[in-house]
Amino acid sequence: MTERVYNFYPGPATLPLPVLEAARDELLNFQATGMSVMEISHRSKQYEGVQNEAAARLKRLLKLGDDFKILFLQGGASLQFEMVPMNFLSPEKTADYLVTGSFAKKAAQEGKYFGKVNLAVDTGEEGFRRIPDPAELKFSPNPVYVHLTSNNTIYGTQWQTFPTCGEVPLVADMSSDILSRPFNPAPFGLIYAGAQKNLGPAGVTIVIIREDMLAKANPDLPVMLRYETFVKNNSLYNTPPTFSIYMVSLVLKWLEDLGGVEAIYRRNQEKAALIYDAIDRSNGFYRGHAEKNSRSLMNVTFRLPSEELEQKFISEATNQGLIGLKGHRSVGGLRASIYNAMPYEGCKALADFMKDFMAKNG
Ligand SMILES: *Cc1c(COP(=O)(O)O)cnc(C)c1O
Repeated sequence: MTERVYNFYPGPATLPLPVLEAARDELLNFQATGMSVMEISHRSKQYEGVQNEAAARLKRLLKLGDDFKILFLQGGASLQFEMVPMNFLSPEKTADYLVTGSFAKKAAQEGKYFGKVNLAVDTGEEGFRRIPDPAELKFSPNPVYVHLTSNNTIYGTQWQTFPTCGEVPLVADMSSDILSRPFNPAPFGLIYAGAQKNLGPAGVTIVIIREDMLAKANPDLPVMLRYETFVKNNSLYNTPPTFSIYMVSLVLKWLEDLGGVEAIYRRNQEKAALIYDAIDRSNGFYRGHAEKNSRSLMNVTFRLPSEELEQKFISEATNQGLIGLKGHRSVGGLRASIYNAMPYEGCKALADFMKDFMAKNG
């Protein structure tokens, strides 16, 4: 390949071309320091400027009030499966988990190390094809939080409206759909997201925590496992993943320049519609994994009539520069990950390829 391809990998995932170009242009000499941003001290004013700007941009884009703090951590979303219950759960308390996919399930399993876990719903026996109705959720009487996964990356389902839990804070893993659509942040006590799907490269995890939630955290934990440490030290207690955070800041700038979350949401709807239409108009040649009212705008999962055709589809698509379409091993079939940075043209190229492939093989 000599040209850039359309990259449908689920994560690490495609980044906006203008972001890569901006990073390239200042790679050797960042802000007239004579050094790469990778080479400067995390205590320098230039680096602190980068990090503070990233946090400010995220706050603006998500319309977060000052009661929310933005933290930059490492360890991926997977460490948050553990840090959340470590900070807020204890053996005599219960947390509710909405199990709508394998990452949600992993989060619930980690919770059990620290306290009681109530699975308020688990759609695993049905192959995680759908998001449950509010009436199906069996909350415990007094949970410390309700944990959900806003977008199920592997199965291609997405919460369309979040459940209401009164005063109980929602905790959300938004790794694969943060900043893809507007939502009301008020009910959320804590939101976390690994950067490598919708925010930037791998290596940094964003945590958004509400002050009243933070006040309830267990103070008796090792220093690096306390959210408080990151709040008090502006995420600079130890060396943060500086280059990843710099890249996140560029992605957030790109998103602001584009018109913010409302603008990208419109584009994401148009993009996903191209591929879902190709599925829906295929007379069953393509079969979506997710039920229609649970469909994700970020990960489109589908099957073909046979595994042989799926193999053929993947290899021919690859030859045409449509990369990373193999589904997760637990679902099989295909998955097109079409995060914010996937251009409309990439989805159009895939939808056209799908029609063409069906005409030849259907
Ligand atoms: C990718 C993903 C994870 C895992 O993230 P890591 O950064 O690899 O730990 C967790 N949750 C969701 C929803 C994901 O998409």
